[in-house]
Amino acid sequence: RQQRIAVLGLGAMGTALALTLLKTGEQLMVWNRTAAKADELRNAGATALPSLAETLDAADVVLLCLVNNEAVHSILKPHRALLQHKMVINLTNGTPGQARQLAGWVQQQNSQYLDGGIMAIPPMIGTEHAFVLYSGDEAAFKASEPFLMHFGKARFMGADAGNAALYDISLLSTMYGMMGGFIHAAALLRRSAIQATAFLPLAKAWIAAMTPSLDLLATQIDSADYQSGVTSNLAMQAAGYENLVATARELNIDPILLLPMERLLQKSLEKGYHAADLSAVIESL
Ligand code: NDP
Repeated sequence: RQQRIAVLGLGAMGTALALTLLKTGEQLMVWNRTAAKADELRNAGATALPSLAETLDAADVVLLCLVNNEAVHSILKPHRALLQHKMVINLTNGTPGQARQLAGWVQQQNSQYLDGGIMAIPPMIGTEHAFVLYSGDEAAFKASEPFLMHFGKARFMGADAGNAALYDISLLSTMYGMMGGFIHAAALLRRSAIQATAFLPLAKAWIAAMTPSLDLLATQIDSADYQSGVTSNLAMQAAGYENLVATARELNIDPILLLPMERLLQKSLEKGYHAADLSAVIESL
């Protein structure tokens, strides 16, 4: 018989995942703490059983997408007896340590654990732009790949259950650096009544132009040779960076997003990295 998948958590993301599975013809059960959020899925053909216990009991694959892993713990712990010989796929955002802990706990219930990091926003689910990182039980990944691939590209990142979260958080850290920088820039420009949308073409062009410089940073970081290929030495960059902070103050914009890098640049100078590249700040993290 076809395996029965239960999607637990029908927020924006869980709903997008469940709708995608329904479209591919999977037999789907859905559950959400606030039951009304299952209505849309029920209308689309999913089964919503009255309780979480009944849902878990009937499922072969338990796919979770809740706000955080505390919520995952809180719904699964009372029902541990029902988690025998299941495949648990947790697409909830969390830390690598939380993923490893959940993996251990699920394995103790004689079930397989696969952790996932969704690199997409809900409207991207099921499109070519989405990708999802998985780690943990490789057999579980192989067995579930035929339906996981409908969410977007499915990439297996290794048997360490924490790996998907590690890569996910690393990508989000990269993203928040970029988004934070843009929001700070928009605050500066707003002082001169320049709209963020008007600035956008320039910002995108600059981000695109600077992206290839990550290649050199990555090579320097991996070799711990921060001096090779330097075109913009750290002493110069530290001097220039002071102007970023000074401009924010001049315009009465809180420089809070800029200050950590200023501090790291100063620390790097204290360590003698004057002639090195920006990559040297990694030694102060
Ligand atoms: P929502 O805020 O839309 O939904 C949160 C879900 O968690 C709801 O189903 C909510 O249930 C449930 N929940 C919260 N607390 C509990 C609890 N104590 N017990 C049971 N259920 C609980 O969030 P999203 O759907 O957007 O996000 C879900 C996950 O997907 C998160 O881990 C997020 O980081 C990840 N993600 C989201 C992305 C996005 O852009 N939205 C992008 C990539 C990943 P209830 O309806 O009852 O409140």
